[in-house]
Parts: sequence; structure tokens; C-alpha cells
Amino acid sequence: MEIILPEEVMTIIEYLERAGHKAFCVGGAVRDSIMGLTPGDWDITTSALPHETTEIFKDFRTIDTGLKHGTLTVIINRKPFEVTTFRIDGEYGDNRHPESVEFTRDIKNDLARRDFTVNAIAYSKADGIVDLYGGRDDIYNGIIRTVGNPDKRFREDGLRIMRALRFSATLGFKIEETTAKAIHRNKELLKNISVERIAVELTKLICGKNAFNILMEYPDVFSVFIPEIKSAVSFTQYGEKHAYDVWEHICHTVDTIPADKTLRLTMLLHDLGKVPTHKLNEKGDSTFKNHAAVGGEMAKEILTRLKFDKKTINRVSFLVGCHDFEPPETKTELKHHLKVKTPEDIRTLLIIKKSDRGALSEKYRDISEGTAQTLKWLQEIEENNECCTLKDLAVTGKDINAAGITGEDVGKALNVLLDAVIEGKVQNKKSHLLTYLL
Ligand code: ATP
Ligand code: MG
Repeated sequence: MEIILPEEVMTIIEYLERAGHKAFCVGGAVRDSIMGLTPGDWDITTSALPHETTEIFKDFRTIDTGLKHGTLTVIINRKPFEVTTFRIDGEYGDNRHPESVEFTRDIKNDLARRDFTVNAIAYSKADGIVDLYGGRDDIYNGIIRTVGNPDKRFREDGLRIMRALRFSATLGFKIEETTAKAIHRNKELLKNISVERIAVELTKLICGKNAFNILMEYPDVFSVFIPEIKSAVSFTQYGEKHAYDVWEHICHTVDTIPADKTLRLTMLLHDLGKVPTHKLNEKGDSTFKNHAAVGGEMAKEILTRLKFDKKTINRVSFLVGCHDFEPPETKTELKHHLKVKTPEDIRTLLIIKKSDRGALSEKYRDISEGTAQTLKWLQEIEENNECCTLKDLAVTGKDINAAGITGEDVGKALNVLLDAVIEGKVQNKKSHLLTYLL
């Protein structure tokens, strides 16, 4: 089998081979090429020791990415390529790299340290495919399996638990049974892994095409770092509206919303507020008063704990906090929403509502009519610059002031005027507004 290598990768391998070393591309790029996908980045692995690699590429722009661990980044055509010496890893600590590494001249040892069979394939033009662990068969059969004993491999580095779930979710592969059992058995190891690294894997995972199955099969794993999930699993929702328990409903919504980080995180967290707000009404149906607002607070707490960036925390908790938004019945009602939400907010909330409703019972699923109408009104409002916010009003605080109103009453007056304009009681013209007020 031949893999088409980018010209830069061929150059790097040629330089290393000309100096008498072995060199291969390895890992994700080989896996993706065999699958017919376009690799994101190309990693090169070599028998050359770090000081030899540095010497060989002395005429190139390079970055010392982690020479201690054997990695030099070589820049060609402004693109970075990581060149790493074959190595045997020591214990992994909390960090990105193992605490100690030993360099080796044998590719066999290097492949043995890699996490999954599908990631442990090397390729060079000179040697062809080097596949010592059945990685190609696992790719063809769509299987994630650790290289060697899964318990041992997860104990070395607990992050591999999340990586297994992530690769299964993104590649659409099944996790082989002994690897799957070891994931459940060793999940607590994730407590030793930095939350930033877990968050990166979680984000990629929920954006994967197979996220539904992974979320359904491994809630115990997710509960290790989001304990709020545990109580949502099998949490029954009574009433004809509901088709699933809270967690299964969540999983369906993650699955159906577009694969965008913010949207998927929002759906993952959107209904966790249902557990603490659940009550039964006199008919015996579930009610979840205020669950969106409560969920918004929970989302903020969870994402802060997982050290997501501020922008993501704010956006996701905002969206969770108002995911109970329904397509408005009238254009006036929509304008009242627009006092505090942007048109983009509304468009996003409509996307959220579509997948949220899609995971209720059949009768409640279709909101296409309300959605289409809302989008049409939004477009009109934007095209005609119709007044929906204080900024759009034809008077300012200064004008109100000049009319003799002071202090807190200025703000109140502006809001009264905005409501009056939205409801069509007065035209948005300065003289009309001031007359209306006085
Ligand atoms: P992606 O498409 O996400 O880049 P990848 O397979 O290239 O997938 P990387 O995180 O870039 O994943 O790592 C490159 C390679 O290094 C992997 O394919 C794997 O062989 C090895 N590797 C990465 N992280 C680990 C780990 N925690 N334990 C063992 N091997 C690992
Ligand atoms: Mg990679």
C-alpha cells in the first residue's frame, strides 16, 4: 500500500534517511490516510537522536518543541512538522508528556508506546507500512483497541480513557470489549488528569458523528468530571410530552444539533437543571419550573470547573439559561425578546429549540412553522431597522433629562417609550416620544 505524502514530509524523511537514519510518518496522519481522510497534521518519527535531528535540520527554521522528549518542530513552506525520536515512555504524570523518556533506535519500541492500534502504524516509502498490532485490520473493521493490556495502558495515562471515547466518537469506531470494560473499570483515573486536557477531549468527542452512542454507553465516565450527569441518567420524565429520560433526551439533542462546539456543549448541559427542579403536578406529570435558569447557573459552574475559556463559559451558560425560548406568536412578542437578545441569539435559540423539541414525543417535535415565521420577522426587522432596543429609540437619556425627568426615572421613561414603540402606540420620532411621555 502506498500513502501519498506531502512534499514537505518527503523532504524531511529524505534528509533523515540520507544521514543514515530510519524515518516514518506515524499516528493520526497514517490512520487518516488509510481511511481516505485528509490528515490534519503529519508527525514524523525517527531513529535519529535529538541532537542528530537538530544537526540535520540546522539549515531549516526549527522550534524546540520538547527536545528533552525528543521532539523538534521543522518548519517548511511555513508549515510545522513535528519530528520525534523513537522513544520508550516512562510513567506519565499529570502533564502532556511522560515524566521520563528513553530514546531507542527501534521503531518497534516506539509503536508499542502508542495508545491505540489504529494510531500505532508507521509508513515510509522505503519500508512501506509498519503495522505490528493489527492497526489496519482495526481500521477496516472500525475498532478502537489499546496497544497491549488496556488496564495497564490506562493506568499509565488516564487521559487515554477520554482519547478512546473521543476517537470512537469522531471516527465512528466501536470500542473493543476488553478495552471498553477497562474504560469503565479505570474511569476514576481521570481524577488525576488535568481538567484542561479532559475538556479538549470532551469537546472533540461531543462534536463527533458517533457522540450519541458514546454518551449513552459511558455516562459513568462523564460523571467522574461532571457529577451532575449521574443524577440525570435514568431520571424519568412523566407525561405524554416526553419520550426519554433526562440523559437520553440530552444525548439525542447533542446528536442532532450541528457539530459546533458551543451548540454541542449547550445541549450536553441544557437539561441538567431538570433534576433539582423536578416536581409532579396534580395530574402526575413532571414539571421543571425554572430549570433553564437553574441549568444556566449549573453550566457556568461546570464549565468554570473544567477551565473552559471565558467566552465559551459565558455563551454556553447564557444559551442554557434561556433554552426555554419558544418561537414567538407575534412580531411584537419577538421585538420584546430583542430588547435583551440579539438577532443572532434568537437564530441560535431556534436551532437549539429544534433539536430540543426533536427529542420529545412525536406530537411535540415539529416547530418548522414557528421557526420560519420568526426568521421572516427577524429579516424584516433588520432590513427596516425597526426599533427594538434603547439604542434604536429616537430619544436619549439627555433628551429625557432636558424634559425635566431626573435620576432613576430617566431609565424607566426610556423603557416605557421602548415598550410603547414596540407595541405600536407611538411613532419612533423625537417629538412624538416626548409628547407621549409628558
Ligand atoms: P488527531 O487527529 O486528533 O491529531 P492523532 O492520532 O494525531 O489524532 P495526537 O494527539 O496528535 O493524535 O497524537 C499523535 C500520536 O501520538 C497518536 O496517533 C498516538 O500514536 C500518539 N499519542 C498521543 N497521545 C498519546 C497518549 N496519551 N498515549 C499514547 N500515545 C499517544
Ligand atoms: Mg495529530
